Amino acid sequence: MAQETQLAQTTFSEQNPNPEVGKRNPRYDILFEPVKLGPVTAPNRFYQVPHASGMTNALPHVRAKFREIKAEGGWGVVCTGACSIHPSSDDAPLPFAKLWDDDDIRSHALMTEAVHRHGALAGVELWHGGACVGNRTSRIAPISPSGTPWMATHVGFMSNLRPRVMDEQDIRDLLHWQAEGARKARRAGFDVIYVYAGMGYLPYEFLLPEYNQRSDAYGGSMANRSRLVRQLLEVTKEAVGDDCAVAFRVSMEELRGRTSENAESEGHELVNLLADLPDLWDVKMDSSPTDCSASRFSPEGSHEPVIDFVKRLTTTPVVGVGRFTSPDTMVSQIKRGILDLIGGARPSIADPFLPHKINEGREDEIRECIGCNICISSWHDGVPVRCTQNPTAGEEWRRGWHPERMQPKKSEDRVLIVGGGPAGLECALSLGRRGHDVTLADQRTAFGGRLLFEGALPGLSAWRRVVDYRLGRLQVMPNVQLFLDSPLSAEEILDFGCERVVLATGSTWTTELYASMEIPVGRLEGPNVLTPDDLAAGAKVEGPVTVFDFDNYYMGGCVAELLHEQGQRDITYVTPAGHASAWTFMTNELPRIHQAFARRGIKLLTLKRVSAFDGDQITLNDLFADTPLTLPCKTLVIVGMRRPKDALLQELRARVDDLAKAGIKSVDPIGDALAPGALTHVIHSGHRYARELGETSDAYPYKLDAPFVTVSMPA
Ligand code: ADP
Ligand code: SF4
Repeated sequence: MAQETQLAQTTFSEQNPNPEVGKRNPRYDILFEPVKLGPVTAPNRFYQVPHASGMTNALPHVRAKFREIKAEGGWGVVCTGACSIHPSSDDAPLPFAKLWDDDDIRSHALMTEAVHRHGALAGVELWHGGACVGNRTSRIAPISPSGTPWMATHVGFMSNLRPRVMDEQDIRDLLHWQAEGARKARRAGFDVIYVYAGMGYLPYEFLLPEYNQRSDAYGGSMANRSRLVRQLLEVTKEAVGDDCAVAFRVSMEELRGRTSENAESEGHELVNLLADLPDLWDVKMDSSPTDCSASRFSPEGSHEPVIDFVKRLTTTPVVGVGRFTSPDTMVSQIKRGILDLIGGARPSIADPFLPHKINEGREDEIRECIGCNICISSWHDGVPVRCTQNPTAGEEWRRGWHPERMQPKKSEDRVLIVGGGPAGLECALSLGRRGHDVTLADQRTAFGGRLLFEGALPGLSAWRRVVDYRLGRLQVMPNVQLFLDSPLSAEEILDFGCERVVLATGSTWTTELYASMEIPVGRLEGPNVLTPDDLAAGAKVEGPVTVFDFDNYYMGGCVAELLHEQGQRDITYVTPAGHASAWTFMTNELPRIHQAFARRGIKLLTLKRVSAFDGDQITLNDLFADTPLTLPCKTLVIVGMRRPKDALLQELRARVDDLAKAGIKSVDPIGDALAPGALTHVIHSGHRYARELGETSDAYPYKLDAPFVTVSMPA
């Protein structure tokens, strides 16, 4: 490989550092023990709990492949997300699975067959949303214990149908739908069938007295309030209990917090009442922000204080989650008697091969979930799951991307990647896996790009895993050269001697503002007008400080918290949105960001925009009334728009003849240099370049899926 360049090569070892690779560490043997679940046996303790994937019955092949890859990667049980048992449980426009008819059975059978091919069990979370769903498509009045809408979702949505009170016939109908759902699930090939009483859904509403004010046998005492779940378990057992395990999934946060006359808490009382009736207890938290909490605010294993008692009260196996990625933490959960099965949702998305990697002594190859919750945002967006760490998530079938296997290179093209941020790192790793000779160069003294700053922001240290995982793998690849301290000019790139140039040069935060009607109004320049890039470069900040955030994702809130950690005590966070870091309601962070602001004394002004700043005071305008407000302010940090760093791209593309002379076939931007965006998009962009290099493109960039639909015509 021609390397007539002055680049300073780093001294990474190209040897695999682990001579024991291939052998399981005996410390982790316990994770590979089978666990009996009623009539079926899980082959190991890795249990992919039900989780939203955004893949409805409209995408049966996308869904089947997504789940199959996890079974291939060693997860002993692989479950669906919530699966509606009747049209009166209709969550549209949020994506949900269903099991209503024969087409649905065929749709799910694709997944169960795929999962079984790898020796894993398939589970289905049968689900009725009760007063928590709007039935926007079916237009059936939602059913509920006492007619109270689920507060977190429906207050304010007056256009929704209000729930009606269930009578005795409704309860009989529900039990019938559950039993029918279980029978259909068995026909579809499922091995583990759920009764689901969590997160505001119908059976859970029966458990809480605020929602259940019934005076019949289903209301009042815990014995009465749990009657419905007992009956749901009984009818499910009766329907399929000889062939399938019956799992009970329940939210414990609220119940554990409530006192009981008969036990330590209402949660304890519920477990005492149902103890060994289910074949599996699947225990979780009550709301998405606590159940699927971002790493910014919760560490690994955060559910333990709520669910730790369950195993002591039952002989039935218990599964729970906690964003477990460390095998030592997993072993500890089992040895300390907290869990029997290690539940994984996000860790199984970020690394479907996590169990295999532990089994083969390759723990250092685990692509650890960073807890950013982009996956859950995909569900809120109504699209198939996306993952920051694993760009192949959701692409397994439609693009044919496997998380562990790359197709071999189609040419001998050598690739120079300029920029070692997340896009450049991912691109280098994936091209290296295809067998290309790759050079990755960055002008800084460390790889990581934007993550060098972002990974040091309050709460975001787990995000550094994006860099650590990729660098760890790159360092042992003999066909990848890594260079730091290497700012590359167009001239140096032309002289380098490679056929392909990839520009992963990132983006720049700008000081652009915007007017009412959301029209950009040009840049605000001045010595005390800063951006996150200036803070990353160590700019001096004088208080009082205003952070003006119209990016609306994590950066503005993190910058405000960072300034507080750096000693600023007069911080005002201003946003034209209605909340701080408004988009983070998609990632479950929003409530915790408001709490963090309150804890730190960061002032919050919503529905405002910055209209002027003179170095001593700042003028804000109300978004709708346009009433001006002035505040003392010495430093303004604008967290607004980013623009690609594309100077190199423009220069190289203008030198067509020089490129041809140098034998360079293509110059392509990726990541933020192509289109500034969230990490997930940046990494996907780097991966996609590597996958598609040398491949012929089809009319569509991916395969289109289609549901199984039998149209029934009236006779
Ligand atoms: P992305 O998110 O797309 O990966 P980042 O901003 O994180 O982008 O990373 C871009 C990286 O590119 C930075 O580390 C920066 O130092 C590096 N870079 C930008 N221009 C050059 C250049 N001309 N030569 C070498 N490295 C560069
Ligand atoms: Fe983990 Fe983020 Fe991937 Fe979700 S998107 S699985 S939180 S890395």
